[in-house]
Amino acid sequence: MSELTSRDLIIQATYFVASILFILGLRSLTKPTQARLGMQQAAFGMLFAVIGTLLNAHILSYQWIMIGLIVGTIIGYPMAMKVAMTSMPQFVAFSHAFGAIAATIVGVVEYRHMHTIDAMGNMPGMSRGVAAAIGFEVLFGALTVTGSFMAFGKLQELITGRPITFRGQNAFNITLIAAAFVSLGVLIYNPDTTWAFYTLVSLGLFLGVSMVLPIGGGDMPVVISLLNSYAGLAASATGFAIGNNVLIIAGALEGAGGFILSLIMSKAMNRSFANIVFGAFGSAPAASTKAGGPTKEAKTITAEDAATQLAYAGSVVIIPGYGMAVAQAQHTCRELHELIQKKGGKVTYAIHPVAGRMPGHLNVILSEAGIDYGALLTDVDDANRVLASADATVIVGANDIVNPDAEEDKSSPLYGMPIFRPWTAKTVFVVKRGKGTGFSGVENPLFTKDNTLMIYGDAKGVLGNLVKEIKALDEGH
Ligand code: NAP
Repeated sequence: MSELTSRDLIIQATYFVASILFILGLRSLTKPTQARLGMQQAAFGMLFAVIGTLLNAHILSYQWIMIGLIVGTIIGYPMAMKVAMTSMPQFVAFSHAFGAIAATIVGVVEYRHMHTIDAMGNMPGMSRGVAAAIGFEVLFGALTVTGSFMAFGKLQELITGRPITFRGQNAFNITLIAAAFVSLGVLIYNPDTTWAFYTLVSLGLFLGVSMVLPIGGGDMPVVISLLNSYAGLAASATGFAIGNNVLIIAGALEGAGGFILSLIMSKAMNRSFANIVFGAFGSAPAASTKAGGPTKEAKTITAEDAATQLAYAGSVVIIPGYGMAVAQAQHTCRELHELIQKKGGKVTYAIHPVAGRMPGHLNVILSEAGIDYGALLTDVDDANRVLASADATVIVGANDIVNPDAEEDKSSPLYGMPIFRPWTAKTVFVVKRGKGTGFSGVENPLFTKDNTLMIYGDAKGVLGNLVKEIKALDEGH
């Protein structure tokens, strides 16, 4: 065994610190109050990992590395600073694609390097173990590249967000997967089989497209976290292939984290995980079999009248949804919340695990507006208990997460999804622009219940009017 130089020891020490920081970062991210710290720990971890890598004795010239760093910073920094919260899912997909391109290129370069005849007329070749790691890396890396670009295209509406399907699609995909595993087997059996290696790369690129095509735009966040997991597995395999410990650890954390997140999201959306990966979700929104849809007309109320009721309510539960994020109404919502509190009412927020369009969407938005985490009810059962004794609830741009059909109508695509029960509060105010359905595309009978009052309009404008009216009450107008 070759002896470790002091440079090697320093590199391993920085990798060790980086790995600890990644683990601490993930741990901190489990609590909203420490999430910012978690991101900082992970960012410092990445800094240590980069420093360790730059110390590698095999680097002969830093010129191209510096050019890459500068170009990456010029593109990445403004993109990250400017991206709107509602565009975060596609931004994440875009950056995954680049991570996966890096992993795939490392795999291809490493394979070529090991199969090139050197000046002495020798070809290094590779062991079966390394071939397995590199094969796995390029397959999952290539799949993540095209899959992430497809997800980005669907979310950015560059391609249709509707599922694109054709007859025999699942059989086609399964054949591609089987062919990929056969190529991987051939490569492991004989690592010098160049065609098997390049077939793996090509099949990975194909699979990324063909597996994401039949999935609807709304399910993309689950797909993105799954691709995140694949990118992690590819990175971990790269670590084994090139003997880099920090890649093995960081890749394993990302692989496991992404997979667990995908499972949690599909459960909270009441989707079978297999169905998301193989089924054509979000195609035609499954219609409820209930005859005729809503027959009753929804009742409306003016902001002025609603403000009077809210100003004197003892307890109010705000239920924010995707529409709040679209309208960017979180700051106005905080103003309303503070006014009700000033008048002696208690305000809490019911945050559903799949509210919005990405995990933690509403938590992030509310925290951006400085709303205290103590006011958030993130457990559906806890929130329902509070709702049952609330004087009023204000639903701001939420729809599917408050749809009673999820409990009452077996034919509804939402059936079985744990939902909030706002109708158990004394009065339900619903803020939305019109009769638009939510992500699932189904009608919501909550809007025609006896104690529901609609305040139509853009969430920011309506909440602004409520704030104005409550202030006017104070001023005695
Ligand atoms: P939702 O069911 O999509 O409903 C959002 C509602 O907001 C719409 O009915 C819309 O009605 C209203 N709206 C849109 N823009 C508005 C604006 N500017 N002002 C006021 N209202 C506005 O949202 P949700 O209740 O948050 O439920 C989330 C859904 O997304 C669930 O079905 C979930 O499964 C799905 N999903 C979530 C994730 C995730 O990770 N969180 C990922 C993928 C899918 P109008 O058009 O009438 O205004």
